[in-house]
Amino acid sequence: MTIKTRFAPSPTGYLHVGGARTALFSWLYARRHGGQFVLRIEDTDLERSTEDSVNAILEAMDWLDLDYDEGPYYQTQRFDRYNEVIDQLLAAGQAYRCTCSKDRLDVLRAEQMANKQKPRYDGHCRGRDVDPDQPHVVRFLNPQDGDVVIDDLIRGSIVVSNTELDDLIIRRTDGSPTYNLSVVVDDHDMGITQVIRGDDHINNTPRQINMFRAMGWPVPAFGHVPMILGDDGARLSKRHGAVSVMQYKEDGFLPEALLNYLVRLGWSHGDQELFGRAEMVEYFDLAAVNRAPSAFNTEKLVWVNQQYIKTADLARLADLVREFMDADGVATAQGPDLAAVIDAQRERAGTLVELAALCRFYYRDFAEFDAAAAKKALKDGADEALGCARGKLESLPDWERTAIHDAIAQAVGELGVGFGKVAMPLRVAVTGGAPSPDLDLTVHLVGRDATLRRIDRAISYIRNKG
Ligand code: GLU
Repeated sequence: MTIKTRFAPSPTGYLHVGGARTALFSWLYARRHGGQFVLRIEDTDLERSTEDSVNAILEAMDWLDLDYDEGPYYQTQRFDRYNEVIDQLLAAGQAYRCTCSKDRLDVLRAEQMANKQKPRYDGHCRGRDVDPDQPHVVRFLNPQDGDVVIDDLIRGSIVVSNTELDDLIIRRTDGSPTYNLSVVVDDHDMGITQVIRGDDHINNTPRQINMFRAMGWPVPAFGHVPMILGDDGARLSKRHGAVSVMQYKEDGFLPEALLNYLVRLGWSHGDQELFGRAEMVEYFDLAAVNRAPSAFNTEKLVWVNQQYIKTADLARLADLVREFMDADGVATAQGPDLAAVIDAQRERAGTLVELAALCRFYYRDFAEFDAAAAKKALKDGADEALGCARGKLESLPDWERTAIHDAIAQAVGELGVGFGKVAMPLRVAVTGGAPSPDLDLTVHLVGRDATLRRIDRAISYIRNKG
């Protein structure tokens, strides 16, 4: 049997990291077993579903490169099919029409609460002959006895007694099918073999299993993925910072780094921290997913991102970083090759936003010197060192690293001082105090004109600082 999993988001907002991790686990399971992955948009909640959310989810799936073999399917396009199944259940006596008024249900609920019972429908309309032309809902006739056993792929065996489950509404008074029914019909029709989803659905699973059985359909396996918590132990939410997947793109994370971070959140393979896509697919195993919720740790995510930035293809990084620099108004068309600048700076950056900031001074004069760096390096007397170095640099025929290095060394020799006496002020003069690689490389990349101009600026800064 072909393995087939799915991701079934409700389009009531952006794709958040919890949803992305569920999607990833489901996708990995399919890829690991040579199966197929389906995307299904569960848009039956007409009031809360929006097209913007659908687009945001598709965009995020695309950015993360969680490719699907089928879909996106839309539940709103399948109402006829759901109603067909509801009618079959009615005809088979597995569902019944219910005319209980809201008042009756409210009283029932209040009584049950007062008796410290779990609020549940009492089966009042079971077996009653209800005129189909009268306003009514349709309820699924849940079995009255026995247990439902879920052999959860992550949590192991879960046993729920049918006496705990009441007769669920599967069609509302307005004729629209409800979530639990639609999911069962879809998972069956789409041939889903493993339902991998968030554990917020764990209470729905025994009810859904009963519906599969009532229809005589094979029951898929289920795996409930634990939720993600914020670092304070509460369920991850907006107040913990970014939760939208696309916000991470804007914050300068690489999609493969976010996926790597998410796969490690609650799953491990030995001590290994970094997993490329192929490795994830090779090693992923639902049984090794932690049953307990995991806490989101932004610092760790930044560390993972940094590892990917260090090794990413330079041309690709340049395209990504250029976008951030453009948005910042830093033109990179003139000046050093951005890929070369990135190569010199990337090991210092945790995100592409940081990397773009580290690349800025190669293209644009900084607004002012970093105060601490200037205090240390641009001291009285440093103007002489800078002036000497400037003279050597200015007369260089070629602006190459070794020549630049030799020019600085010559200035050091001529002045009879330690290397730092020239190198420190020169570095601050050229970079403003920003983190930077080897001095000759920095000076080389910044270029002749900007270097000489910035040295002049530092000299006058020293002389005028009063
Ligand atoms: N549409 C549901 C949600 O977004 C998921 C349902 C499922 O995976 O079965 O929470």
